[in-house]
Amino acid sequence: MPDASSPYAALIEITSRPETVFVEGRGSWLSDASGRRYLDFVQGWAVNCLGHSPPLLLDALKAQAEKLINCSPAYYNEPMLRLARLLAEKSGLDQSFFTNSGAEANEGAIKLARKWGSLHRGGAYEIITMEHGFHGRTLATMSASGKPQWEALFEPKVPGFVKVPLNDLGAVEAAITEKTVAVMLEPIQGEAGVFAATDAYLRGLRALTERHGILLILDEIQTGVGRTGRLFAYEHAGILPDVMTLGKGLGGGVPLAAMLTRYQTACFAHGDQGGTFNGNPLMTAVGCAVIEAVSMPEFLAQVAATGDYLASRLASLGERHGMGGVRGRGLLLALDLGREIGPRIAESAREAGLLVNAPRPDSLRFMPALNVSREEVDAMIAILEEVLGRLA
Ligand code: PLP
Repeated sequence: MPDASSPYAALIEITSRPETVFVEGRGSWLSDASGRRYLDFVQGWAVNCLGHSPPLLLDALKAQAEKLINCSPAYYNEPMLRLARLLAEKSGLDQSFFTNSGAEANEGAIKLARKWGSLHRGGAYEIITMEHGFHGRTLATMSASGKPQWEALFEPKVPGFVKVPLNDLGAVEAAITEKTVAVMLEPIQGEAGVFAATDAYLRGLRALTERHGILLILDEIQTGVGRTGRLFAYEHAGILPDVMTLGKGLGGGVPLAAMLTRYQTACFAHGDQGGTFNGNPLMTAVGCAVIEAVSMPEFLAQVAATGDYLASRLASLGERHGMGGVRGRGLLLALDLGREIGPRIAESAREAGLLVNAPRPDSLRFMPALNVSREEVDAMIAILEEVLGRLA
């Protein structure tokens, strides 16, 4: 039982949190209740793609809040239509369904694939997913995920997910049966520790799924919306999936996610899918502002260049401290520490005023705002350097 007088006692504990209460954020900086500032390379878990409280997002929120906040998903609203049109133009997919979280978007993708299988593939429902993949925390998305720690949790799992190792095309081909309806994966496994599907593998998957008449579903919740230096990570491989999910960066900090697909696979009938807040004008107005800003070629070029700069600074830091290499693409990067000191470094860094995440004990993950400056990258490296020196 927690001490009832503790300020944290009324909150269900779902993870271990430092006893810091954050009250304000601007750009790459967060402040806590005591006024202490932190350089933020977590950014809401790769969510605040334009940093904390960017003026563009505040303007969109204010303008839309003054006009219309919610009119029910049973009616069209203007920003919802505008965002769907923008995403169709930018992605090459045709239609969007908006949700409030990434898990919900993936849940929608799984339902869509099963519906499509029932209509077009003799009732096929199995989805091939990747070991160590992460798709969310609803029951179906936990079942689709390949996180080893979840294997025994919340049994029985939702059936119908077959796991294969990442980057092994032969394993996918061997797993395809008449029950298979889709292959689903992240272009870069972010939560697993930043492990990328190679471009050749993604191209191989596209060809394989086409040959077998099954769907390719890309979970771009962490990699989409400019994170890898392209608007969508599949662009690096030169392919187009049948279904894509977006979340995190799409709302620039507000809860907004989406499931996109082609006309041929958009098979939901009335009543199959929905949700009270889905496509609400307040969030979709922000989504429009974010997509318009992030999809500008100069912005994406800047993300790629800052990503290269961060990767090179991390690589030389790693070399100086006898660590492994850098993984990832654009501004979704991990440093292989070569030993299991990630949580200790993340904690010491926080004490020194830097927020970074250790997705696995031997790695640190960096997911700053996409408009982070080189000076902020340098400041982050200087803090890490000092922390590493101290821990050594
Ligand atoms: N898919 C991927 C690739 C993710 O990284 C995440 C969250 O980290 C999710 C799905 C789940 O998104 P949400 O936490 O918004 O439900």
